[in-house]
Amino acid sequence: MSDGIRRIVALSVLLLGTGLLWVAGRTTDDAEKADNERKGAIDEARERAASNDPRLKGAYRYDRGGWVYVHLEGEPAAVGFQHGFLLAAEIEDAFPAIKAQMTHSTRRDWDFFRNAAKEMLWPKIDEEYRQELQGITDGLNARSGSHLDVYDIVAMNAFEELPDYYVAWLDKREKTANAPNLKSPGNCSAFVATGSWTKDGKIVIAHNNWTGYMAGERWRIIFDIVPKNGFRMLMDGFPGVIASDDDFGINSDGLMVTETTISQFEGWDPNGNAEFVRARKALQYAGSIDEYTNIMLDGNNGGYANDWLLGDRKTNEIAQLELGLKAYKLWRTKDGVFAGSNWARDPKVIKLDTPQFNPSDMENSPNARRVRWEQLLNDNKGKLDVDLAQKLLGDHFDTFDKKDEANERTLCGHVDASPRGVAIWAWGPNYPGGAVQGKASDSTMAQQLRLFARMGHPCGADFLAKPFLAGHSDYAWQEPFLRDMPAGPWTEFHAGEIPVPQR
Ligand SMILES: [Zn+2]
Repeated sequence: MSDGIRRIVALSVLLLGTGLLWVAGRTTDDAEKADNERKGAIDEARERAASNDPRLKGAYRYDRGGWVYVHLEGEPAAVGFQHGFLLAAEIEDAFPAIKAQMTHSTRRDWDFFRNAAKEMLWPKIDEEYRQELQGITDGLNARSGSHLDVYDIVAMNAFEELPDYYVAWLDKREKTANAPNLKSPGNCSAFVATGSWTKDGKIVIAHNNWTGYMAGERWRIIFDIVPKNGFRMLMDGFPGVIASDDDFGINSDGLMVTETTISQFEGWDPNGNAEFVRARKALQYAGSIDEYTNIMLDGNNGGYANDWLLGDRKTNEIAQLELGLKAYKLWRTKDGVFAGSNWARDPKVIKLDTPQFNPSDMENSPNARRVRWEQLLNDNKGKLDVDLAQKLLGDHFDTFDKKDEANERTLCGHVDASPRGVAIWAWGPNYPGGAVQGKASDSTMAQQLRLFARMGHPCGADFLAKPFLAGHSDYAWQEPFLRDMPAGPWTEFHAGEIPVPQR
């Protein structure tokens, strides 16, 4: 079924549903009917007026391979407005899922997160990003009539750092009674390679995003942003969020960026700058590994602490920035490979920032995947390219049990298939999470602002929500939000490409 037909069918179902509701409610008086008609007319007029807004100039979107590509350009407020307007449906869909996840895991209400956004994060956000975040809110409201305000949007942008970093730190500091079990997440498998390790001697970078499926199946935006200041960016991302956040991006000055989180990280600085702001700023403004490092270090709040894997196609140099809060370390080389699967490696970072992490427990997911990366990267030294990277991201070899089996220890993660879950991330048995999408690029592609991306498990397997929920009542709370996550094809995206513009 083509997307067009699918949309028509969906619309027909919606209209039929509305009609049935109307029939069911016929006993109500004509006043209500008139009210509804008036409301419909207002909605229509609002959308019509908004679609002529001059701030939308140059912006467009299209859907491909399970992804939504958006091109945004101009002043910060305009970039935000275009984002909110073009992705209004996706933001309206993602917001309740993120809100449910944040409030469920922390046992804090949404006002708590709004206040944290307003009192703690907002005062330190650069003016440029304040305007963009306000723009997202304005664009969303103009398109959909949503009542979300900028603090809802800021809290949503911080969905990785507020629950598992800030609240975990706060609960410990305040000795919260019956505090929930919050752990920094283990997001992603990735590598960056250069020199004698790759087929063409230039940089290859690849990443699969690990997260709960509820968020991950919505992590399906390709952002092409031409900001007024700084470099053009092509990155994957989440609706309503200004950073890639998982993270995978390239900029027009030659920087190639990805990361994996540091498992069992502890710490937060309430006076620091939000991680989502620093990460966005670094991709937008850094033209070198040093500049990237400096931006990430400036106002480091400890949120969403990552091992950043970086490449600079201008110098053919790659780097790993292990960014703890109390310690950090930068490794760099023009002939080598850095891999990530949620483990810290610097002894000082481990001691000061991840005191609970055990680098020699080979049964846990980060260490088991570290062993697999070492095997695969060594076996393929000199052969690494984007094609091969796509295959490696879908690998299912469990190095602890020494067998092919998709589970929590494989580079392509399927924790829903594991009765063990991942305790160090507070993911229970059969937690509905794992690798939710993958991306890959190389120096040549980065020069042309191109990347490959696959939605869903990088191995190509589908996740089906209904049978999963039927068998795992622990996760019944996700039922309103958890959906099927069908795998799409590996799909190429190119900054500036205009197939069929649609609004
Ligand atoms: Zn898989």
